[in-house]
Amino acid sequence: MSKLTPEQVAEHRREAGRRWRAKNPDKVREANRRRKATHPEENRKAMRRWRTKPENAKKNRKAMDRWAAENPDRVRALGAANSSRRRAAKAGVPFSRDRAVTDFYEMAGSAASAPCTYCGIDPGPGNRQVDHKIPRARGGPHSIENLAVACGKCNRDKGTMTPDEYLASQGYKTKSSTTR
Ligand SMILES: [Zn+2]
Repeated sequence: MSKLTPEQVAEHRREAGRRWRAKNPDKVREANRRRKATHPEENRKAMRRWRTKPENAKKNRKAMDRWAAENPDRVRALGAANSSRRRAAKAGVPFSRDRAVTDFYEMAGSAASAPCTYCGIDPGPGNRQVDHKIPRARGGPHSIENLAVACGKCNRDKGTMTPDEYLASQGYKTKSSTTR
């Protein structure tokens, strides 16, 4: 028997691995599940790599359709988050994948009741806006802590003011000035 080259040895190993995986689909699934749980970030990256390969496009679509059929509630929630993301993009708000942020936009758009943070008047579902308390123009982050429901007038008039500056400009007492 002639000696195998390192490449042939590696190929034999890969072939043995393929055979073993074909014979043990349950063990493969279990190992994948464990890996997914212990290495979530690597798993996400690997999935992304797999998804973006053109030869996987069809399989990916099928898997997504299957998932969608099994998870109608998640599909609805994602649709709502996507449309609030589109609304945000239209309003010049940077795209965010932050679930809390998209949920906030969704809440502001559709909640039965959500009064304006500044004047206290609720313009009603569909007429509310999301304000960045510290304006984006002044370095305020696009994150849940910096978001507030506002009516159209307050959002427009506030412009690039901070909440305290805006409330003062309206002649309202601000939190910081009342505690002083
Ligand atoms: Zn208002």
